Amino acid sequence: MKPCVILFVSSSISAINQINAMNLAMPHKMRLLSNSLPLLLPFLLLISADLLALEVKGKWEQGQLLIGRVEPGSQVVFQERRVRVDEDGLFVFGLDRDAPAKVALTVTDPSGDIEQHQFQVNQREYTIQRINGVPARTVNPPAEQIERIRRESALTRSARSKDLPRRDFDQPFQWPLVGPITGVYGSQRYFNGEPRQPHYGVDVAAPTGTVVVAPVDGVVTLAYDDMFFSGGTLIVDHGHGVSSTFIHLHKILVEEGQEVKQGEPIAQVGATGRVTGPHLDWRMNWFDQRIDPQTLVGPMPRAES
Ligand SMILES: [Zn+2]
Repeated sequence: MKPCVILFVSSSISAINQINAMNLAMPHKMRLLSNSLPLLLPFLLLISADLLALEVKGKWEQGQLLIGRVEPGSQVVFQERRVRVDEDGLFVFGLDRDAPAKVALTVTDPSGDIEQHQFQVNQREYTIQRINGVPARTVNPPAEQIERIRRESALTRSARSKDLPRRDFDQPFQWPLVGPITGVYGSQRYFNGEPRQPHYGVDVAAPTGTVVVAPVDGVVTLAYDDMFFSGGTLIVDHGHGVSSTFIHLHKILVEEGQEVKQGEPIAQVGATGRVTGPHLDWRMNWFDQRIDPQTLVGPMPRAES
């Protein structure tokens, strides 16, 4: 994850050889350094902080959100997408459910030096989930609903494409609802026996009307009462393309444009859209890339009795 750090602190020859083998994936500047490493070693520890052009925290695995830091004023491109870098050099990006095994991150520092990094992404295995008893019209929507479905998915796409200069995503998240987890991220799903899109959220079961709170601060970018598949649908933006989507809601308690604080009531659990019973489906996105919400929160707290 941080090859630079290994480079600067390793002193054995074999470690140096190992690093030389990795050089193809390393920036030019680093390559020169590692060749002259034995001579320079005493000094490297002193100057390494300046040369550490990229710092990334998080796990290189499908479904993860990673937060990085570069020198302020740098440009960052992740997989051909220019990423917002704030005034402190902070940026964020997400690894989709099906992110490839190798991804590229390019940093151009303020002086124009370009560093290309490649990272390995751990590939996950997803479970299969079979859901029966779903209303047939939501599995194979009638022709007259197709236009509506298109319109609604354009609304969610547009809300998730916002790139707002806020950094709520850099705060610790909390569960928006406490209850039994009945569905997990990534599972391949069969509705009434027919294969459909994977499940991108985490499902938490609770009776209709149970309050859902904001998992972290944000601004409401979509509040829509009744979508064909997702029913009551709410999107809260956490900045830099990171957003939470809450679906199947009974009632939405906030309005578009409203600022919400972590822990604040934002909606009520429902059973609207394609569901078999009341639950909250919480999804996380980095633009159109699907993030596993469970990677952002700790274990589910025990329900109060
Ligand atoms: Zn769900």
